[in-house]
Amino acid sequence: MLIVLARADEELRPGGTDPLRVAGRVAAVVASVVVRAGAGAARVLGVGVSVPGQVDREAGVAAYAPNLGRHDVPLLDLPAEHIPYPLYLDNPLRACTVAELWFGAARGREDAVVVNLGTGVGVGLTLGGGLHRGISNSAGEWGHTTLVPAGRPCHCGGHGCVEAYTGAPGIMRTLRELAPESPLLRPDDQTATIGALADGVAAGDAVALQAVEETARRLGAGIAGLVNLLNREVVVLSSWVAARLGEPLLDGVRRAAAPHALRRPLEATEIVLSPIPTDPVSLGAATFALEGALGSGTAARRAAPTRSRTAPTA
Ligand SMILES: [Zn+2]
Repeated sequence: MLIVLARADEELRPGGTDPLRVAGRVAAVVASVVVRAGAGAARVLGVGVSVPGQVDREAGVAAYAPNLGRHDVPLLDLPAEHIPYPLYLDNPLRACTVAELWFGAARGREDAVVVNLGTGVGVGLTLGGGLHRGISNSAGEWGHTTLVPAGRPCHCGGHGCVEAYTGAPGIMRTLRELAPESPLLRPDDQTATIGALADGVAAGDAVALQAVEETARRLGAGIAGLVNLLNREVVVLSSWVAARLGEPLLDGVRRAAAPHALRRPLEATEIVLSPIPTDPVSLGAATFALEGALGSGTAARRAAPTRSRTAPTA
């Protein structure tokens, strides 16, 4: 059974993504969480760090984060001065997927696709009950596959990417295109806008319903491609946008996927919302530390963690 002993959230203000400052704040939050958990520092197995974008976990480097516009940040060196625990680095796609494997909808399943819907979009893949990383830890960058040829520009430099329509900024753009003056739009605040959209759907607001339907239509078409390509047992909609938009998004995705997927793989695939009641990225990052401790026994600070095996039994 999973018990969260303590948690703390800190918002990054726009422009507040300087790596050194972020690392300092992370270190302070880790220290406060350890105190509040009352577990004692000696019992902390490690700290998992999840950063968006491409991650070189062996070298501890955030190689490329399109949403933050950064290249080659030596992420594990920055907080290492201040955090006296072994550190494990990866990105939200892998973190969400490991959380689903240990505690969520992929638990006890052979194969799953975890669709991470946040500011960025991507998928985590499991194969035979373990995490599939790909040759350079980059598997699952589905958010930057083309959904609409010559479509919306994407911050990766391409056009018409899945993420440009189904990530939080893309959903905001859809809402703006449908109703530029909509009171649901909160400029520069994607979290508040997605929240207002969810509340609008619950209240039967026509614009909100249309915006979510439009998002689900595109997401469903993309997921149908994953169903055909991968033939997994379950597709899990995870992360904060999926959690906030919930059942209306899921219903729309199921409806939208059907005409685009082949019948046989679709019938074998369940499309579900993540059942994890807490932030799956934080939970997954913490699980990396647990895996590291179980794998090595003597987890050295910043040491290259053992590969994720992640094979809990149901
Ligand atoms: Zn892109």
